[in-house]
Amino acid sequence: TSKVKRIDTRVDKLRMKRKDTDTLKVKENVFDEPTLKTLYTLSNKGIIEAIGGSISTGKEANVFLAEDTEKDIAVKIYRISSSTFNSMEDYILGDPRFRNVRHSKRDIIFAWTKKEQRNLVRAKEAGLKVPEPFVAERNILVMEFMGEDGIPYPQLKDYRMEKETAKEAFDTIINYIDLLYNEANLVHGDLSEYNILIIPETEEPVFIDMGQSVTREHPRSIEFLIRDIENITRYFKKYSISADPHELYKLIRNK
Ligand code: ATP
Ligand code: MN
Repeated sequence: TSKVKRIDTRVDKLRMKRKDTDTLKVKENVFDEPTLKTLYTLSNKGIIEAIGGSISTGKEANVFLAEDTEKDIAVKIYRISSSTFNSMEDYILGDPRFRNVRHSKRDIIFAWTKKEQRNLVRAKEAGLKVPEPFVAERNILVMEFMGEDGIPYPQLKDYRMEKETAKEAFDTIINYIDLLYNEANLVHGDLSEYNILIIPETEEPVFIDMGQSVTREHPRSIEFLIRDIENITRYFKKYSISADPHELYKLIRNK
């Protein structure tokens, strides 16, 4: 169909835009045959209309700006070929929700993608601001685009704010960790100034990147919770906000 072609053309353009070694990387590691097929499936279902430029190339996934018929969307594609899936296995194996997952690399990545979707749903239900997940299909997560005019909101690390605003953002982030733990039964597990976006207009934080988030039953959930809190208190020291991570931890745990 023409939709498929449109995706094909965009993918081709994307390949052409990237020169030399990067071209190969993108071709072989992201848009491999199974991933292209999944993109076609999503295109046929009308979930993705066109795929645009790369937003990010991370350790395990690439994020692209895309469009459905009416709006911008974000498409996160976990790389089947070069994922650091051994560390993924650690998170999945301790999670009672994934007891029945077969242990092939592909299956772990597919389960991981579903896990990120479910975690985002639970976080949203608990009252956090997160991208709304639309569809998880194999290794592809389609979600709300957090940005404006095709430009993603800045990461916390790149956003300068006034001291007072920083205190508000800090309080919101701690409240989000609390809600996540006590309402959604989850620990983010990789929380830092990299995985929080700031909406410039309102200076509100947005939590992202929840593939690794674990339930409280996970054997390492306490360790991850403490690390998340420590990362945040460390970052906000530059705004002269001093908080004792262990006190915050106790407040959250003893609810
Ligand atoms: P890393 O391995 O670097 O931690 P990642 O591969 O785990 O990254 P994410 O952290 O989920 O992937 O996303 C990478 C970047 O892409 C984010 O820092 C953010 O800038 C952008 N991004 C992710 N999701 C969205 C979204 N829904 N809307 C807009 N931008 C997004
Ligand atoms: Mn990230």
